[in-house]
Amino acid sequence: MPQKVDKLFINAHVLCMDEDYSAFENGAVAIIGDHIHAVGDAAALEKTVTPTEVIDCAGKVLMPGLVNAHTHVPMNLLRGLGDDLRLDVWLLGYIMPVEREFVNPEFVHLGTSLACAELIRSGVTSFADMYYFEDQVAEAAAEAGLRAVCCQTILKFPSPDADSYQDALAASEKMIKKWKGHPLITPAVAPHAPYTSTVDILESATAMAQKYDVPLHIHIAETAQEVEDSLAAMDMPVVPYVERFGVFNSKVIAAHCVHIDEREMHTLEKYGVGVAHNPTSNLKLSSGIANINRMLDLGINVGIGTDGVSSNNDLDMFEEIRLAALLAKGSSGNPTVVPARTAITMATSMGARSIHLGEETGSIEIGKKADLILVDINTLHNSPHFRNDPNSIYAQLVYAAKSTDVTDVMVNGQWLMRSRELLTIDPEKLIIRAQALAKEIDTFLIERLQSVYTKLIAVGGAEEQESYEVQVKVKVDDPQRVVQMIQESDLDILYYRHYHEYDTYFKFDDPGEGWLRYREDEFIDDKGEVENIRYRLTLIGPQREKHFPQDVLLSRSRFIAPAPHSLRFYREYFKPSDETYIEKDRRRWKVCFHEIEFFINVDRLDEPDLGTFLEVKSRTWSQEDAEKKAQIADDLLRLLGSSPQKIETKDYVQIIETKP
Ligand SMILES: [Zn+2]
Repeated sequence: MPQKVDKLFINAHVLCMDEDYSAFENGAVAIIGDHIHAVGDAAALEKTVTPTEVIDCAGKVLMPGLVNAHTHVPMNLLRGLGDDLRLDVWLLGYIMPVEREFVNPEFVHLGTSLACAELIRSGVTSFADMYYFEDQVAEAAAEAGLRAVCCQTILKFPSPDADSYQDALAASEKMIKKWKGHPLITPAVAPHAPYTSTVDILESATAMAQKYDVPLHIHIAETAQEVEDSLAAMDMPVVPYVERFGVFNSKVIAAHCVHIDEREMHTLEKYGVGVAHNPTSNLKLSSGIANINRMLDLGINVGIGTDGVSSNNDLDMFEEIRLAALLAKGSSGNPTVVPARTAITMATSMGARSIHLGEETGSIEIGKKADLILVDINTLHNSPHFRNDPNSIYAQLVYAAKSTDVTDVMVNGQWLMRSRELLTIDPEKLIIRAQALAKEIDTFLIERLQSVYTKLIAVGGAEEQESYEVQVKVKVDDPQRVVQMIQESDLDILYYRHYHEYDTYFKFDDPGEGWLRYREDEFIDDKGEVENIRYRLTLIGPQREKHFPQDVLLSRSRFIAPAPHSLRFYREYFKPSDETYIEKDRRRWKVCFHEIEFFINVDRLDEPDLGTFLEVKSRTWSQEDAEKKAQIADDLLRLLGSSPQKIETKDYVQIIETKP
C-alpha cells in the first residue's frame, strides 16, 4: 500500500547535499509533517506514495534551504547608516549612539521581521543571530516561520538591553529557558567577542551553554588589530586566549576567524568549533580575507554568513556563496580551491553543522526537517546549461544564479514562500514602518553630527572646564635662569610637574567651531622617564581677546573629554579641514602669588623648533575676577625677571603656523 504523504515534489533536479552528494536530475522528495519522508528518482518514488499536495518542479533545482551562519538581523533597520568608514568610526561614531537611543524590543521585532522577509526571498531557511533583546528576534523569526539560532549578546559594558553583563547573562538564561525545545528556535548565548568580554563573561557564558546544551556564538579574530592587542595584553593570539577559559568545550559558532594561524585552526578543529565566514563584511570593513581553504582542508565546519546588513548591506546569501568561492581563489592564486560544490556545501549541510544544527537541517535526507527551496534555473542569466559534468549544476548555482531565482521556500514542512509570494510576512507594511523610523534616526543623527561639540558629546561626553583665562607669554633666551628664579623666589610652590606634550590641533572650515586639540601627555618622573601617559581631547571655543595695558585676557569655552581612541579615529570621525602639530617639553609649577593660584609654564617648543616660552596663566569663571588677575599676572612675570616683550596669543599662533 502506498504511504500517505503531505507533499510530493516531482520533476525536480534534486541536490541532496548529503555526504555522497546524491543528486537526481528527475527527482522527487516526499514530506510528512515537518520532515523528509523519502527522496529519489521521481518515477520510482511516485509509485510508493499517495500525496495530498503535488508540487511540479519542472525546470527547477530542489535543494536544502540556505544557512546564514552569522548575522545581526535587527540591524536591517540600520541599513546604509555610515558606509565607507573604518570599523571603529562606523561602530562608535554612528551605530552605537543610534543603538543606545533607538534599540528596544519593538525595534528588534520590526528589524527581524524585515530581515526575515529578505532572508526567505534569498532562499535562507536557517540563520544564526546575535543581538540585543534576542527574545524578540526569536518571536519574530518564529512568526515568520524561519529556523534560527537566537543568541543573546553579552558585553562587558552597558548595552541597550542590559545595564551590566550580569543582567545580560540573566536575560540569556531566561531566554534559553523560554525557547529551549521550540521546533524552530534554538536559544543560545553570545559573549560578543573576547575583547568586549571579561573572563567572568567567557566562563559564565560557557557554563550556561554547557548546562543547557545550547550553542555559544562569538566574534573571533575579525581584525588584525584584535590579534595585535591580544598579543600585547595577553602575550597570545585570540584562539588560545579563549581556549584557556574552556569556551571551546561548548558548541561554539566563531564568526570571522580572519586572522588565525595554523595552530589556531587546529585548535578549532579539535573542539569542533563552527566557523562563520563573512566575505562581504570582511571586505567592506577591510578586515581581511579568512583562509577558509586551509580551514576546510583541516576538516573545520565552515559556514557562510552575511553578518548584519550594516556591514554588507544586504542578506543575499547567493552573493556570499559566490564571493566565498571567488575570494578563496583570488587570494590563493589557485582557481581550483573552494570549487562550486564546496561553496554550496558551506551554505547548506556544512553551514548547518557550523551552527550546530547539522542533525536537523542542511541536507535532503530521510528524517531531516523539510527545509527546502526551489530555484528556477531556466532564466536568461542561467541559460544555457550543460550536464556532461555532474558538478556543473553547482557551478551554475554559484556563478550564475541569483537570489531572485528562488521561487519557493519551505521550513519545517511549512510554506513560507510560494511562486515568489511571501506567505508569513507582509513586507510592504514593514517597509513603511522602517522608513518612518529611519526618518527619526536621520533627525537624531543630523542633530548629533551638526557641530564639533555635539559630535564630541556623541562619542563619549565632554565636560566644560573654564571660561576665562588670563595668559601672558614671553620668549625666554635663558630658560635655566628662569627656572632658577622660580626656585629661588619666595613664591609658594604648590606642585611641580614635567611633561612631554604632543598636540594635534584640528581646525575646521567654520572658525566658529573652534579648535579641537588631541593631546598626548607624557608625565616625566624625577629620573626623566615616562611615568604615565594621558590622552585628552579639548575643544577650544573661538576666542575673544580683550586687551589690557599689557596683558591678554581670553574669554572662551573649553570642553575636555578623555580620548580613549586613536588619533586616527578622531581624525576620521571629526574630519578636520586642517591640522597643526606641536610638540613641547613643559615644566609646570602651580604657585600661589598674592593669594591667587597661577600656573607658570616653561615650554620648550621642539616641533616646530621655536625655542622656549615662559607663560603665566590663571583660570577663572568670572570676567571681573579675570581682569583682577590679569594685573597680578603681570607683576608675577616681572618678579620672574622677564622683559615686557609679551607675545599675544594670536601672534603666538601665527608663529607656530608659519613654521620656519
Ligand atoms: Zn557580526
